[in-house]
Amino acid sequence: MTVDNIAINKFKSFLLKKGLRVTNQRLSIFKAAYGSSDFFTAEDLLVNSKKLDDSVSRATVYRALPLLIGSNLIRSVDVGKDYKFYMPVDNIKSQKAQIVCLDCDKIFEIDAPFMEWYGKSVAQKHGLIVEDQRLQVSARCNSIGKSCVLNHK
Ligand SMILES: [Zn+2]
Repeated sequence: MTVDNIAINKFKSFLLKKGLRVTNQRLSIFKAAYGSSDFFTAEDLLVNSKKLDDSVSRATVYRALPLLIGSNLIRSVDVGKDYKFYMPVDNIKSQKAQIVCLDCDKIFEIDAPFMEWYGKSVAQKHGLIVEDQRLQVSARCNSIGKSCVLNHK
């Protein structure tokens, strides 16, 4: 897991601007989050942060999450559950659609090249320029006797 210094420095200066201390724990949590190439939950983040700093606790992770989001370096994805998924902003491609399996809690990303065209044409009708757009599809697999967890990995 390698996280470039630019991202770390951005996070550090965000903390300092907020008047917060740059602690080892906060940096470890940030590195674990930003180094993730896949969607992760707060619990995943706890496990990965502990690998970098054993003193990180569940409470520390939950307190750090709003800071990660606030820094605009991590984005949260609400899939309509009582917990959220997270992803480094750099890894979110706006021309990708997300399919969330409600049965397995898996998130798949598929190329959605039509989205760019659609977003542009809708925005242009209103004289606007597209900044970002997302498409999220909720689906189920159990009802057709499948499991995404078994089919992938
Ligand atoms: Zn599934």
